[in-house]
Amino acid sequence: MSEPVLRRRRRSWLLALCLPALSTLPIPAVAFEPADVILHQPGSLPLVVTAPHDGDLPLGLTPTRTRGTQVRDLGTGVLAEQVAKRLEARLGQRPCLVVARFSRRFVDANRPEADALESDIALPAYRAYHAAVASCVARARAQHPQGALLVDVHGQGQVPDVLFRGTRAGLTTQALLARHGPAALQGPESLIGQLAARGYIVHPAVGTDSLREDPRYAGGYTVFTYGSQHPDGIDAIQLEFGAQQRRSPQLTDDVADALLVFLTRHGYLPKP
Ligand SMILES: [Zn+2]
Repeated sequence: MSEPVLRRRRRSWLLALCLPALSTLPIPAVAFEPADVILHQPGSLPLVVTAPHDGDLPLGLTPTRTRGTQVRDLGTGVLAEQVAKRLEARLGQRPCLVVARFSRRFVDANRPEADALESDIALPAYRAYHAAVASCVARARAQHPQGALLVDVHGQGQVPDVLFRGTRAGLTTQALLARHGPAALQGPESLIGQLAARGYIVHPAVGTDSLREDPRYAGGYTVFTYGSQHPDGIDAIQLEFGAQQRRSPQLTDDVADALLVFLTRHGYLPKP
């Protein structure tokens, strides 16, 4: 047997002796930096844009969740970022932006803490996400007493050519409804009304009397938690873009334009 082969064999024996000692090392509780797994970009517009479901990062040693959906809302993180950039280019100010970079396989940020994760290792990521959203909302409220809006951006694949609005049938936009009535939520100048005018099929349909929404997409934890039915909340609307709609190269411009019209016509932004 040659000398190098002997040396290799001796090395692998040494490694085998060391392995049991390595496996008894304590597992670090936090194997990631919470600030690295979310994007939080403060802004001064009366607008908060959030996207909880388009991340792909693992969270250290967190095991995969075993309950609840783990599907990624593909394209929604980029959409939120691009819309924020477009608004900044048009207005010289940007919305407060919070995008989850972590994968939904480990944390679902659009759920209450008890349902969002199954391992305490993931907790700092969940809390960092919601601390960022809460600070955006508090700042928007303080700087814009006339009203501010949170848009929670999602994607769904069940009805690929339809955009669903979720506000718990108007509950999370109570302040907006008190000021402007139901047309502000589903009239031609509403957010979904403006998107319908740009060719998107929306649900509820524009002009519908009832504020009832599709129960699958009627508004999740984020819009419910930060909505204007709470004394410290702001108007909050969940948008669930269909898979086909998310493939449109026009989507970023259309959403930014629809937001501009909606925010201006409903007193969030001053009229030009
Ligand atoms: Zn989603």
